[in-house]
Amino acid sequence: MDEIELLVDLHKTSYRQGPGGDDETLQAMNLAGLDRSVPLRMADIGCGTGATTRLLARSLNAEITAVDFMQPFLEVLTIAAERDGVGDKITTLCASMEQLPFDDETFDVIWSEGAIYNMGFAKGVAQWQRYLKPGGVLVVSEITWLTEDRPETLQTFWKSAYPEIDTASAKIKQLVETGYSPLGYFVLPERCWLDHYYDPVHAEIEAFLDRHRGSDAARAIVEAEQQERALYEKYKDYYSYGVYVAKKPV
Ligand code: SAH
Repeated sequence: MDEIELLVDLHKTSYRQGPGGDDETLQAMNLAGLDRSVPLRMADIGCGTGATTRLLARSLNAEITAVDFMQPFLEVLTIAAERDGVGDKITTLCASMEQLPFDDETFDVIWSEGAIYNMGFAKGVAQWQRYLKPGGVLVVSEITWLTEDRPETLQTFWKSAYPEIDTASAKIKQLVETGYSPLGYFVLPERCWLDHYYDPVHAEIEAFLDRHRGSDAARAIVEAEQQERALYEKYKDYYSYGVYVAKKPV
């Protein structure tokens, strides 16, 4: 197995593949002004195994296209969606978020949690805008600085890991400059990282190492996960995911 396959193998049994939470997904839904009163056409981009996709399908009157470039995640999503009784509301699409096959003005809502950094926020929000109908809403979570000043070590780490990391005001300015009208923003609390993301991954580690007979590649992945968690625990006052909600003007 190569590194990507190992990463998928470690993460596919978790409920989420990135920081987040059902309460926070519902909070974003409320900020976006979404409820069951109108039928919606939605996309969830970088959906992973679809914790969010399935919650949205259960909570709204929506037809949702769940997009990810990892087919094994989509297979888990499909089984879970059937089990949740929302299989008929969700269509999976194995595709790159950078090359989506959608027509312009297809969706009322584009949703993306913990994923847009893979193509970069600025490029993502600009490219995806055309797939939204006028008046459509974008909900996207993005790594965000929580303070204007932060420790040098942390700054250096993120400037190399994700140079686009920035403050919420800078992200909101980018949304405005791209032609969106911001509706709201909030920060994912600690439980979204520790209880909903790092703890479930941690619980999988032993079985994962057993499956791969403690191979060097598997051990390297576990070590990287542990370092990432340690970084978060040490510096959580300085960064988190921000959840951004913005409208495409009519
Ligand atoms: N939204 C999910 C998963 C977040 S993890 C959740 O919150 O639980 C990020 C996801 O983006 C992974 O499932 C990964 O496979 C997917 N991804 C990464 N790069 C991608 C790309 N270029 N195109 C499509 N999906 C991508």
